[in-house]
Amino acid sequence: MDYDIIIPHRLLDAVTGAAFDRENEAGAWALFSTASIKRDPVTSRARRRFILVEIVPFGARDIVSSSPKHLTVKTASFISILKRSGDSDLMPGFLHGHPSGYAAFSTRDDENESALSLAAKNRNGVEGEFVSLLALPGEQLMARVWNEANTVHPAPVTITGPLLRLMGRPRDRKKTGHDLDRQTRVFGEEFNEALSGLRVLIVGAGGTGSPLAIMLARAGLRQPLIIDPDVVEETNLHRLHGSIAGDIGCPKADVLANHINSLGLGTDVIGIQGNILDPAHRDLMSSVDLIFCCTDDHAGRLLLNRFAYFYEIPVIDIGLAIEKSDTRIRDMTGRVSLLYPGAACLLCRNIVDPVRAREEDLSQRDPEAYAKQQEEGYIVGGGDPEPAFISMTTSVATMAIEEMIQMLVEFRHQDRPLTQRLRRFQVPEDRRTGARIDPECPICGEFNSWGAGDVTPFLDRVS
Ligand SMILES: [Zn+2]
Ligand SMILES: [Zn+2]
Repeated sequence: MDYDIIIPHRLLDAVTGAAFDRENEAGAWALFSTASIKRDPVTSRARRRFILVEIVPFGARDIVSSSPKHLTVKTASFISILKRSGDSDLMPGFLHGHPSGYAAFSTRDDENESALSLAAKNRNGVEGEFVSLLALPGEQLMARVWNEANTVHPAPVTITGPLLRLMGRPRDRKKTGHDLDRQTRVFGEEFNEALSGLRVLIVGAGGTGSPLAIMLARAGLRQPLIIDPDVVEETNLHRLHGSIAGDIGCPKADVLANHINSLGLGTDVIGIQGNILDPAHRDLMSSVDLIFCCTDDHAGRLLLNRFAYFYEIPVIDIGLAIEKSDTRIRDMTGRVSLLYPGAACLLCRNIVDPVRAREEDLSQRDPEAYAKQQEEGYIVGGGDPEPAFISMTTSVATMAIEEMIQMLVEFRHQDRPLTQRLRRFQVPEDRRTGARIDPECPICGEFNSWGAGDVTPFLDRVS
């Protein structure tokens, strides 16, 4: 079993604020939701993911003593956290800081945490884990998990939200198979390293997904996962990067994966022919750090839209809308939207049509019922394919990659996180657009769903 920890960026101030008390060690209790990955598609191993939901400060009398080198807390104050954990599906945890910068758990940490973990098992039962977070100066975090058997395992930490920081990942000794000198001169070795360790899912291997995946691989992304239900058709060849006439009839995801793997970049892409709506693919979504939504269907978009908020895995949603009258192009807009708790979701932005999404969902789950409703005239969507052109689909893929770079290394100087960018090809100009969260929105307005992790039914959706 592997473990990893997600820290939503919006909670980072609470984490660092609680971890240091001037020069002395300080700390807090923490509560985590969980996500279980049965089989990680890259490692083939099971993984438990812990998503930080809340930092609970110590009470005034909880600290027995503290110094720059130690922190002793009354175990009694842990009981209220165990009660909350026992009453919910949240796992208990402990956060403390090493203001000295000592980047390891001490033997005293081992003793304290082992005792806390045992106390948790005694009260709440042995199935639960106990998470320990260690904060170092400079917003560096380390973590480990005490499992059911009370043995301890290191756990990489990922800070997610408008930015992405990967910490404590095992170093990949196998270097990228090509020289990244020119891009290193732009973004530095730090960017190359982050990108090589980043786990990305690309949903859709079409006009936007294909250039996106190829560019990411060339930039040094090692193991992207690509999922698409369709096969290459003759009408795709004028838009799909990396495909040839001989690929007609082959799954788009395989064609793209094979193309990238043949480039000699040291990339190991996994292509999956399938629909993201299929429950069989949940591990694909919950095992990654970042998802690119390059699909043009509403149901897939709506699912990923919800997923970003429940699992604290940012989604970069990409779209191209071309509106034509008989004689001229009225509007031609490329769009990149960032989805994470704190940003307005696609429903609040009026980007997904829930009616179309329901129809597409039905056609996937129950084709017979869908055909019947279509016959009876109840289906509004599913007409002609949307217009598209290769330079525009490639352009929005490029915009999406720029947002990923911003998340990893913040190359742009901006006062607040950008959550949506529009490229209006017919004007021509780029715009950043604000959007308001509807407080009643069941996805982005509902704090309860933020970082909820695994719930039943999945994503709290009643179909
Ligand atoms: Zn310590
Ligand atoms: Zn919303």
